[in-house]
Amino acid sequence: MFKCDKCGLCCKQVGKFPFMKDYNRGDGTCRFLTDENTCSIYERRPPICNTELLYERIYSRVMTREEFDRMNTSACEKLKSYAKTTQR
Ligand code: SF4
Repeated sequence: MFKCDKCGLCCKQVGKFPFMKDYNRGDGTCRFLTDENTCSIYERRPPICNTELLYERIYSRVMTREEFDRMNTSACEKLKSYAKTTQR
C-alpha cells in the first residue's frame, strides 16, 4: 500500500490543475489542507485525492495494486525531488 508521510506537497499543487480550481485558496495550495498537513475534509475528499477509490474505480482495470502503489510512490518521490530543486 502507498504510504503517505503527510508532507503536504501534493496538496500544495492544486493550482496547477484547472479541475481543482475550487480547492485553490489562492496561492496554489488546497484550502482544506491544515497546518499539520492533513486534509480537513478527508472523509469526503475528491476522488483524485483518494488513492483507494482511484484504484478501485479506474486503475484496477489496467494494473495491479502493486504497480499502482509503485506509480504513486514514484510520483511522490519525483514531487519531493522537484520541490528540493525549487526551494530557496
Ligand atoms: S482535498 Fe484534502 S487531500 Fe485533496 S488536495 Fe485538498 S487537502 Fe489535499
